[in-house]
Amino acid sequence: MTWRDILSKQSGWNRAKSQQFRLSEEEALQLYRDAPLHELMQAAHARRLSMHPDGKVTYLIDRNINYTNVCTINCQFCSFYRPPGHDETYTQTFEEISTRVEELESIGGSRILMQGGVNPALPFDWYLDLLRHLRIQHPSIDLDCFSPIEIEGIAEVCEKSTLDVLRELQEAGMHGLPGGGAEMLVDDVRNDVSPKKGAPANWLRVMEEAQSLGLTTSATNVIGFGESFEQRITHMRRIRELQDRSLTNYDIGFTSFIAWPVQLEVNSFGRRNRGQNKHTLGAGSSEYLRHVAVSRLYLDSIEHIQASWPTMGIEVSQMALLGGADDAGSTMMEENVVSASGTKKVQASEIELQNVIRRAGFTPQRRDSDYRGLATEILSDDPQTLAAPTPNIELRS
Ligand code: SF4
Repeated sequence: MTWRDILSKQSGWNRAKSQQFRLSEEEALQLYRDAPLHELMQAAHARRLSMHPDGKVTYLIDRNINYTNVCTINCQFCSFYRPPGHDETYTQTFEEISTRVEELESIGGSRILMQGGVNPALPFDWYLDLLRHLRIQHPSIDLDCFSPIEIEGIAEVCEKSTLDVLRELQEAGMHGLPGGGAEMLVDDVRNDVSPKKGAPANWLRVMEEAQSLGLTTSATNVIGFGESFEQRITHMRRIRELQDRSLTNYDIGFTSFIAWPVQLEVNSFGRRNRGQNKHTLGAGSSEYLRHVAVSRLYLDSIEHIQASWPTMGIEVSQMALLGGADDAGSTMMEENVVSASGTKKVQASEIELQNVIRRAGFTPQRRDSDYRGLATEILSDDPQTLAAPTPNIELRS
């Protein structure tokens, strides 16, 4: 089959017969390698419209809180962490964290995404007490906290299983887990860039345990470590396999898939490759858009594909909304992990996200962490009043 044949078959996709149209790994790879970007984005856009025909693009008012930068994992692409004992380490107090949540409440936010380093000095009770404190002080805010590697770190410190740790954190008020730390779920790549982070199977196991408890989870993917296209599809295959299993066993899975390119500016991974094969690392706009489009077509059991403005910029993220993505991400307010590696833009206002969405021809829809729609006041200018108004985009697939 040619890429054209594969895309032609995909045009008949519908939700009821999704399995009949499911892409194999080989087909996804062929699309990744051979399909022209325009055709690929068009097919991904058609799929997105079939799955979400309401003409809306969702976004979230939330805040990242990076509660500690102490970490013992030493990922090469990370400029955020400091090793224990370093004079730039910090761990925020409950009051400091609470103040940040209050600031989020004051602008109508609905979720915090709290993640930090793997800090062996923090006992399990610290995490439980923090969640209980936040649950009482900020009952309307969803607490999506601690990525799988942090859960593993906590389990090691308290000598409990990761499942028991998750259960107790949930009882203390945790709503879900951030999807961070997946990066590239391929042994060779992981061993090269973050050898202490544990095998891909660990990340997948912790996420499956979280899903078995009904916690909200998302899946992430960082590209541009020098991995092959095959390895990128392998990452997606592992995510899809877990998604299928969890939907069958627990009736819950990843809410969304979010990919972005590794940032190379100020970390040891970037320095290691500077002047040598740097041009082969990271990912430019067209490669990113290709990745988003393939992920929409291949990850047929994941409802939402998110565009990443913090790494790609607002303009490219807007293009992603016309190539498979249906979610514009979140306003963030604060972000310290990816931004430490060189991204310039670390927060967006609600009006900015609405502008991006409306000028792409969609209706902005606020959502919560579980993608439930929230009341949305339209703040942005009507794009039809612009000097060059938004083209009339056909919203049928
Ligand atoms: S990416 Fe996370 S686990 Fe890796 S060094 Fe940074 S803070 Fe630690």
